[in-house]
Amino acid sequence: MTVRTRIAPSPTGDPHVGTAYIALFNYAFAKAHGGTFVLRIEDTDQARSTAASEQAILEALRWTGLQWDEGPDVGGPHGPYRQSERASVYQAHAARLVEQGHAFRCFCSADTLTEMRQAQMAAGQTPRYDGRCAALSEATVSERLASSDPYVIRMRVPETGDCMIHDRLRGEITIPWSQVDMQVLQKTDGLPTYHLANVVDDHLMAITHVIRGEEWIPSAPKHQLLYQYFGWEMPELCHLPLLRNPDQSKLSKRKNPTSILFYREQGFLPEALLNYLGRMGWSMPDETERFTLDEMVKAFNIDRVSLGGPIFDLDKLRWLNGQWLKSALSDEDYVERLMTWGFSESFFHQVLPHLKTRIDVFSDAANWLMPLWEQTPEFGPDALDFADLDVEAVQSILQFLIWRLESVVVWDREQVELSIQFVGDALGLKLKQVMPIVFVSLSGKQRAISAFDLAVLLGADRTRARLRHALDVAGGVSKKGLKRLEKSYADAVANIDSQGEAH
Ligand code: GLU
Repeated sequence: MTVRTRIAPSPTGDPHVGTAYIALFNYAFAKAHGGTFVLRIEDTDQARSTAASEQAILEALRWTGLQWDEGPDVGGPHGPYRQSERASVYQAHAARLVEQGHAFRCFCSADTLTEMRQAQMAAGQTPRYDGRCAALSEATVSERLASSDPYVIRMRVPETGDCMIHDRLRGEITIPWSQVDMQVLQKTDGLPTYHLANVVDDHLMAITHVIRGEEWIPSAPKHQLLYQYFGWEMPELCHLPLLRNPDQSKLSKRKNPTSILFYREQGFLPEALLNYLGRMGWSMPDETERFTLDEMVKAFNIDRVSLGGPIFDLDKLRWLNGQWLKSALSDEDYVERLMTWGFSESFFHQVLPHLKTRIDVFSDAANWLMPLWEQTPEFGPDALDFADLDVEAVQSILQFLIWRLESVVVWDREQVELSIQFVGDALGLKLKQVMPIVFVSLSGKQRAISAFDLAVLLGADRTRARLRHALDVAGGVSKKGLKRLEKSYADAVANIDSQGEAH
């Protein structure tokens, strides 16, 4: 048997370090067994998937140095590798399940489903589909189809008993069927949900081992049942522990930069990032701290993954990166990497409009560019001390802006401006009160290029990291203060949304 693994990102946001971590373990496992590593784009969620996000994910994964053998960009014998191009494959499979009685058409409207959920919750039950359309007669179904009533396709699920899942790292996992919903497999628009597309593709792409994050364990019973319905052998499951923030919470951009591109922009080496991710729940048999991807592959044994939540700690990654910079690169390589990082032609073309209007001699340039090169601008609380704002107002501005920027999908000047404006409106402050805080937080200086331009050049994660740093400098927000801010932020968002609706 040829081992075949895959990474199957959904292009719905920034390329997440968690994706690189799962990709790395899939790669290492495949290569340790002389196998094949596949990249598949799971873009069945049409509303949230974007081409820009797919591009960013491919670019970021390529930058890490992980090479896939098959994928949407490199092709391969099992393509297409983008789920949006495979709709007819899933439709045929969903139809087969309906024909064989393993799935049924459900005509329930959104209102009916809401009522059902509310009634179940009022009765203290876990909300789930109650199966009313599973019992429709053939005649009724034909009638409703003839009148073109919209429908979804749901899978049948046993009503009683337990589902046993075997996980390579966790052994047997038992999940009662009563906790498993009659999952929608095909939506009203004829497109599949994640569950159907994922199972069909893993089978058709001959995936032998599904190595993914533990957040997918609850989906495993549905997947196992689908394999049974289709009469296919199921790949071996292996759910890896989730990466965590130093406070043990799930790694999220609320607390840590999570975009792979952030690490590239901050000047980390891809080798060091992969090396660090390789130490998340796994270690070299001799506990060597610095190792290359090839060394990891040679020594890799997935059964040595430990399940305690691995902590993704920026300071440790920084230290490891330092080890790489100190001794792993030749001088030529070092210089080339440094140039590519911050002194490339494309970088200077990007910043040229900001320099042209400002400098008289090239030696003036460093001063203006420093905010783009440095990791974190240095400044003390005095720099954020503006006469017309007390420290709580400063903290509110920073925290509101961090939250608001988290929801920006397309990072451009307009969105940054709108976000800052939103914060001003939400806090009843004028733009000229808010701007100096943002300006100092991003530049650390009295004079620098505009805060809007800086935010665009820095990108989303570096901008948010700077705002978080400024918030720390401003004394941080207590747990209680955070609760209060969360509430007033939610009110402000609701307010803006309702105004939006009124227009
Ligand atoms: N598309 C899923 C994700 O975004 C893949 C989950 C899986 O590996 O089955 O993580």
